[in-house]
Amino acid sequence: MDADVIVVGAGPTGLMLACELALAGVRTRILERRTEPQRHSRALSLHPRSVELMDQRGLRDRFLRLGRTVPGWHFAGLRTQLDFSSLDSRHGYTLFLAQARTEAILEERAYELGVEISRGYEILGVRQDGDGVEVETRVPAGDTETVRGLYAVGCDGGRSVVRQAAGIGFPGTDETLTGVLGDFAVVDPQPGALDAARARGVIVAPLEEGLTRFVYLDPERIRVPAREPVSLEEFRASLTRISGSGCGVAEPRWLSRFGNATRLAESYRSGRVLLAGDAAHIHFPAAGQGLNTGLQDAMNLGWKLAAVVGGWAPPGLLDSYDAERRPVGASVTENTEVQTLLAELTLVPQYQHPAAALRKLLDELLGMEQVNRRLADQVSALGTHYPPTDPGADRLVGRRVPDVGLTTAGSERTRVYELLTTGRFVLLDLAGDPALRGAVDAGWGSRVTAVTVDTHDEHADLGGVTEILVRPDGHLAWATRTTDGAVRSGERIQALTAWAGTPSSRS
Ligand SMILES: Cc1cc2nc3c(=O)[nH]c(=O)nc-3n(C[C@H](O)[C@H](O)[C@H](O)COP(=O)(O)OP(=O)(O)OC[C@H]3O[C@@H](n4cnc5c(N)ncnc54)[C@H](O)[C@@H]3O)c2cc1C
Repeated sequence: MDADVIVVGAGPTGLMLACELALAGVRTRILERRTEPQRHSRALSLHPRSVELMDQRGLRDRFLRLGRTVPGWHFAGLRTQLDFSSLDSRHGYTLFLAQARTEAILEERAYELGVEISRGYEILGVRQDGDGVEVETRVPAGDTETVRGLYAVGCDGGRSVVRQAAGIGFPGTDETLTGVLGDFAVVDPQPGALDAARARGVIVAPLEEGLTRFVYLDPERIRVPAREPVSLEEFRASLTRISGSGCGVAEPRWLSRFGNATRLAESYRSGRVLLAGDAAHIHFPAAGQGLNTGLQDAMNLGWKLAAVVGGWAPPGLLDSYDAERRPVGASVTENTEVQTLLAELTLVPQYQHPAAALRKLLDELLGMEQVNRRLADQVSALGTHYPPTDPGADRLVGRRVPDVGLTTAGSERTRVYELLTTGRFVLLDLAGDPALRGAVDAGWGSRVTAVTVDTHDEHADLGGVTEILVRPDGHLAWATRTTDGAVRSGERIQALTAWAGTPSSRS
């Protein structure tokens, strides 16, 4: 075997997944078609849950150092913003950070963890049998080579060759509308022109290295196919049509057209081949969710695949990746369709009047705390909840664990996300069971960090809980409120076996 897991694609999803696998000790190799990292950035936003994930892996400061925080994000370009600052998170903001920077940080981390990254390797096909996968690759010299692994994961974007080779369908709708983006070194120095453009719905945002990004939907050009290149003349003409001036744009670094084709993979797994990120879901980039969803796919899949490779995965664990993440992909694609429809209605002359009335109404609704909260939970992904298979499970099971500060029985001050940085399960005993550590270490010591909590910061969700088991991706696997030590010990063994596998005598 050349590697345990072959990850196809070194975009944000592939890099994140490779980091997760390598952290868990899996021999991981990324095969990437590009010879150099991507210079241009499609995405500019990391929403709260993604920043939390970076915090759970000790990468928070690398990201925060390079990005800029903003308190919320737009939904469908409505004037009233989604308010992330009131959400229950230490990271209640969007981190404004170019995709190329996100990829650079993750690539640096992947190298630190020992991931092998092979650039200039284009995947042509994937075959699988009962023992493993064979990935056929065109190598930099132009020859073809077969790379062998136990599993392959397609993180190779919307046109995924891996998905096609695995015969996984990608149903959905074709592109009907396109938008345009441009990154410029020179813009009109007077703020008036840029303000006028913003007032007419053009997104104008400063990027690093003195560049300015413009994004617009030109009513006269929304039916132009995404594959048609954008010229500077077209860009200036569109800006002038929309906002009254070309905003002095010059020296473009990147001009691109993107569309609203919306598709969701029929399945995220076919045997030994799995899909994550854009390979599994594509949609219009409304509210900046694609990259974020890909990172969260990777976080869900990494530890499960590592458990299978490590030989300790409980039955059904790997299939829970599809069961948990495909509904999230479906809900993201749906909300982007709603947003795109609203944008399109605003641009079609016969609907302009009612569309303006609809936007006004929605703006008012977004001003209501509960409505804003409902959408903020979704776009931030803090509301992502994996429904438990056991109907009697505690109401917290499947939700993300809050990053509560705590003092351990050994008087050490820490917080839950710090405990998660090793990528293992975390078992928190909030009722002071002196036998806990020994019991867990004896059976699951290599997979579970057991901590007896002396005191913890108040948190409504943890009120009344006596013990919780947190999965490596930061979601609750089990929670109990029983104060009966014997009952708790029995429940704990069941939960550990169900999630972290049968106890190992080698632990
Ligand atoms: C205009 C625009 C703005 C956006 N803004 C945001 C935003 O603000 N926030 C957000 O969350 N998302 C945003 N997105 C979406 C985001 O860019 C994507 O969701 C994200 O890039 C997906 O990451 P990925 O790693 O899954 O796929 P990709 O980034 O597409 O990476 C796939 C990788 O696989 C490689 N590859 C492809 N085929 C092969 C092959 N055959 N062999 C080997 N390698 C291969 C590619 O070279 C590439 O490196 C935006 C998208 C657009 C178009």
